[in-house]
This record gives sequence, structure tokens and C-alpha cells, in this order.
Amino acid sequence: MNDSYYKNFGVAIYCRIYDVQKMADSKWLEESFNVLHKYLKINKVYLETHRDMIVPEKEHVQKIKTFFECKGIKTSGGVAFVASEGRLSRTFCYSNPEERQKVKEIMQFTAQLFDEIILDDYYFTSCRCELCIKAKGNMSWTDFRLKQLEEAAKTLIIEPARSVNPNVNLIIKYPNWYEHYQYMGYNLDVESKMFDMIYTGTETRDPEYTQQHLQQYQSYEIMRYLDNVKPGKNGGGWIDPYARRYLDRWGEQILLTLFDKPKEVTLFCYGSLLESIKQKDGSEKLTSVLASVAGNVFEEADVFLEYLGNPIGVSSYKPYNSSGEDFLHNFIGMLGVPIDLTPEFPRNSNTVFLAESAKFDKDVVDKIRNHLIEGKTIIVTSGLFKALQGKGIEDIIEVECTDKKALVKEFMRFMDVYSSDMEIIIPQIKYATNDAWEIVTAL
Ligand SMILES: [Zn+2]
Repeated sequence: MNDSYYKNFGVAIYCRIYDVQKMADSKWLEESFNVLHKYLKINKVYLETHRDMIVPEKEHVQKIKTFFECKGIKTSGGVAFVASEGRLSRTFCYSNPEERQKVKEIMQFTAQLFDEIILDDYYFTSCRCELCIKAKGNMSWTDFRLKQLEEAAKTLIIEPARSVNPNVNLIIKYPNWYEHYQYMGYNLDVESKMFDMIYTGTETRDPEYTQQHLQQYQSYEIMRYLDNVKPGKNGGGWIDPYARRYLDRWGEQILLTLFDKPKEVTLFCYGSLLESIKQKDGSEKLTSVLASVAGNVFEEADVFLEYLGNPIGVSSYKPYNSSGEDFLHNFIGMLGVPIDLTPEFPRNSNTVFLAESAKFDKDVVDKIRNHLIEGKTIIVTSGLFKALQGKGIEDIIEVECTDKKALVKEFMRFMDVYSSDMEIIIPQIKYATNDAWEIVTAL
């Protein structure tokens, strides 16, 4: 066994364009690599060839490639299709002929240099320029963007890359906001089939002090979801060290990603893993607390991962391009109920959990009925039930999700009373005595 690498997974480091530029300084490259390599067994680096309209010199990238390859580290390309990154980043406009040409050129440039290219999770558009408004016509922004980016993926990304490198392995990375992909034109259904591989953003960061409030469990659950989208072709999980209050959150994100048994874990990014301490003579000494923590997690997980079986959980169906009761699956995961999210209705599962997002399948009522007739169990949320009222669900059971709400903190099950620390708002469900019954009663 080659002890230069971990046994159960590969580790990749993503180098942003700013890292790639800095690598022109060969002394810095050598020193920074030695710091990271002291703690991490590295299989691959992704070298970025575009971000913020910056493209590196070809010869410069080739020099860096040689540096890493001489150390037994594979090099792949990375592309961030962001025109200007910031708090509200400017994405590319795929209606603008000049920007479309730029996308094509970036892909051809990158495919000349690498046999594998990953798209950082900027392959979406939020453009609302006049060209886009005109091209959209009467379509919704969601429908327009889905259609536009599907076409751009084919004609501006995949075909140009293949025209210069027919065997290039093209990977599309999906971000952590899986309920909202479609609004920005990220088509998990069509694009996952067009690209050779997909990749998963498992960066959940702080669950409270962030805008997204992503639950920790998502670092594992989204891996399972994308495994189910393209079985065997989910390239790995991608973590960054940002927006955390504690160092533990960084290690936890890595470990939760590893519980999925991924092929690879990517750490984003090279420069963000490093810190520098100014010395008396004015020079900078590089160090890395983040690499040391990540290295510890990798070492530990590598000891037991091969003994884990295949992950199981309550099957939860979320159709492609759907949303509703967003990210609820992860809150349930945090309660200790494992969830296995899937884009197809899991007919073979005995129990299926459905959140409101299932309403995007126009046949979902029939699927629920058939599952129940087969003697299996369906769990639906009040949100889904409400959405399906008047659409055939009443043919299965005459229950009504009313607009009345109750503020409760005590719950009863067979005369045993349990209390919550906080009051919870619940919707009131009207049912007919003995036609349905409560399992837990709010007092
Ligand atoms: Zn536009």
C-alpha cells in the first residue's frame, strides 16, 4: 500500500485563480506546498483557469502542473464562471454574444491543458439585463434560465471542450442550495446526464450565524442525494472553511462528507488553508491550522471507513427542479432520523417521507395511492397535504389542513406528557374521529 495517499478516498485541493497567480513565485509555491503536505496526503490539485475575468498564461499553468506532477499529484482544471465575485456576485450573461464567446474560449483554453475539468458552482445565472428580459419573453425566470443554461452547457461548454480534447472528463459541481438550483438555471436532471460526472458542495458552515442556516447534517445528506442522482458518478464532496464560529465545524463538515464514503474530498481553497505570521526580519512564515485539523480527520476516518456498510435512511423523494419546505430533510436528520433523499419516487422502500417539494410531481397523488395499496407507509408533511388539497388527496383520506395555528409546548402520547423547552407553532389538522387518529397529541 502506498502510504502517500489515504486508503479509502482521495484528497484534492482547489486552487483559485489568485492562488495560481501567486504560484508564479516558485519559492512561495514550494514553501506553501510543504506546509500543506506536512499534514495532508494529497492526490490532486484543481488549478483554476478563470474567475473574475482573469485567465492565466498557458506557460505559467504548465509550469505549475509540472511542479505538482513531479510530486505524484494529479492536476485537473477548474473554472469559475463568475464575471465578478463579491457579496452579490455578477454571473455571466448567456444572452450576451461577447460573454458567450468568452465562455467558449475559457473551456477550449482549459481543455488544451487538462484531461479533467471541474466547474466551480458558479454555472448559474442571475442576470436580468435587457437582453435577458427580451429573450425570456413570457417564460418564468426559472423556465428561461433552465432552458438557456442547458443550451449553453451543450454549445459553449461541452462541445468546445471536446473539440480540442475529445476525452476530457467534464465535471459539474452543484452547490449546497439544492432546493433552489432551478431558479438560477442549474438543471440537476438534464445537466447531470450531459456531463461525465457531478460533484457535491458539502460546505454547510455555521447553522445559525449565516444567511442560509444550513444544518450540519446536510454535509452528509446532500452527498447521498447526489449519489442517487448519478450513481457511481458523484465525484466527491467539497468543503470550505468559511463562515464558522468554531474550528470544530470545519472538521465536522469533512467527517460528515466522509460518512458517505466518497471517492474524493476537495478542500477549497489552497490560499484559504494557509496563514502567515510576520517575522522580525519582515518575512512571512507560512503555517496551517486548517490543514492540520483536516489531516487529523482524514487519518482517523481512513482507519474505519472501509468497515462501514452502505448508508441507509428513510427514503425521501424530492423531484428534480422542485422546492417547498426548503431543506426540511436536514432538520429531520438533526433530530436523529436518517434521511436518504432521492430524485425518483422510491417504489421499493417500505416507508417514504414526502415534504412539500413532492408537489412538483404531477403524478404524486397516484404514486402515494399505489404505495399505500401495496401496504407500504407514506409520511407527508402538513405543507404537502395542504398543497395537494383539491388535487385528489381527498380521495385517499378526508383530512383538512386548516389555516388555524396553535402555539404549543406540551405533547401527550397515551397519557404520558412531554414538554418542549420552547413553544412551537403547529398547523391544526381537521380529521374525522376513527377515520384518522393522532399518534402524538399537542395539549
Ligand atoms: Zn443578461
